[in-house]
Amino acid sequence: MKIFVVNAGSSSLKYQLIDMENEQVIAKGLCERIGVTGKISHKAANGAVYEAETPMPTHSEAFDAVVYALTKSEAKVIDSFDEISAIGHRIVQGGSIFPKSCLVTPDVLTKIEELGALAPLHNPAHALAIRACIKTFGDKIPQVVVFDTSFHQTMPPKAFMYALPYEYYEKYGVRKYGAHGTSHRFVSDRVAAIEGKPKADLKIITCHLGNGCSITAIKDGVCVDTSMGFTPLDGFMMGTRSGTLDPSALTFIAEKENLSAADINRICNKESGMLGISGVSNDNRDVSAAAEAGNQRAQLATDMQRYQILKFIGSYIAAMNGVDAIAFTGGIGENDPELREYVCENLAFLGVQIDREANRTRGKEIRISTDESRVNVYIIPTNEELAIARDTLAIISE
Ligand code: AMP
Repeated sequence: MKIFVVNAGSSSLKYQLIDMENEQVIAKGLCERIGVTGKISHKAANGAVYEAETPMPTHSEAFDAVVYALTKSEAKVIDSFDEISAIGHRIVQGGSIFPKSCLVTPDVLTKIEELGALAPLHNPAHALAIRACIKTFGDKIPQVVVFDTSFHQTMPPKAFMYALPYEYYEKYGVRKYGAHGTSHRFVSDRVAAIEGKPKADLKIITCHLGNGCSITAIKDGVCVDTSMGFTPLDGFMMGTRSGTLDPSALTFIAEKENLSAADINRICNKESGMLGISGVSNDNRDVSAAAEAGNQRAQLATDMQRYQILKFIGSYIAAMNGVDAIAFTGGIGENDPELREYVCENLAFLGVQIDREANRTRGKEIRISTDESRVNVYIIPTNEELAIARDTLAIISE
């Protein structure tokens, strides 16, 4: 059985075709510059590659290009789309409406569009992609939506509410929704599998550290708190995002510089974080290299991010009255031994002991704590596409 996984943005479309017999990727690719020009880069598991520039005024033409790449190009992997059992879509924002993945229906599609108010850069693009899929594949292939926010819907109100006048929650749904939920769920499931215990018996902290970063506390098998909030801007500093700060710093800057709400949004989302502090780059590798070469601001950015990550982990240990396992994932979490060592050394007072040799590993699933460590610490490469494919298969099999 083959599942097609779609991650659509406003001008891009990432996809994977996964064989669910062995959970291996058969082919994957990316359509870029949708609505502007159009380019597809497609790669089959056997190494065959197909690349083409072809007009993609809308997501529909992008899907046409994907169908060609999969079924007719020199890197084709199937004869016809009839071989595909279902399509699974990644959806960034499910609000309080979608606590789990579900089949696409007209009503579901309308609700995803309505939730565009909370995720204007993402949900409208997801809805366009679903409509384009319906146009290209008709209703012969079932479509499933998997929400980044669903895993966090178990947070109690004391964790998800902001201490603002209650009416903004009631009128506009202003609260913490979280993000990266599919990744946190995948990684915490792996932790439980490796530990050989039911997830419900473990207190787990998952650290998804990439260009976007979030940390989640999982107790009794469910998410009890997470660092991202109303939007993925909340939490600790990321590549270009500020993370949590005093809101009056923003109103102060807005008044001084005569900035609009949109300006503030842009500054906090695109010009802050590692980039804003270092002035070098949003990329962890560039900032680390600059810090090593003696750039003080790059060193400050690195120090700030590590300190903030440590504080979130510490606060979640307190929130859960303990921790059994901590897992690192994402481009930084999987590849930055110094950051992991910093976190573990600062948790030594809790009995965390790092295995320095194991911690040199990059991008592979491994335990990086010693046998004596009171908390098991892991690197767990995330696989959101596989998690989406598994949900999709489960739903069409119901
Ligand atoms: P992601 O968003 O998960 O793709 O992660 C992107 C971030 O991971 C960037 O800041 C990269 O610099 C960082 N990253 C990726 N590979 C490495 C590596 N080998 N060493 C250090 N950081 C890395």
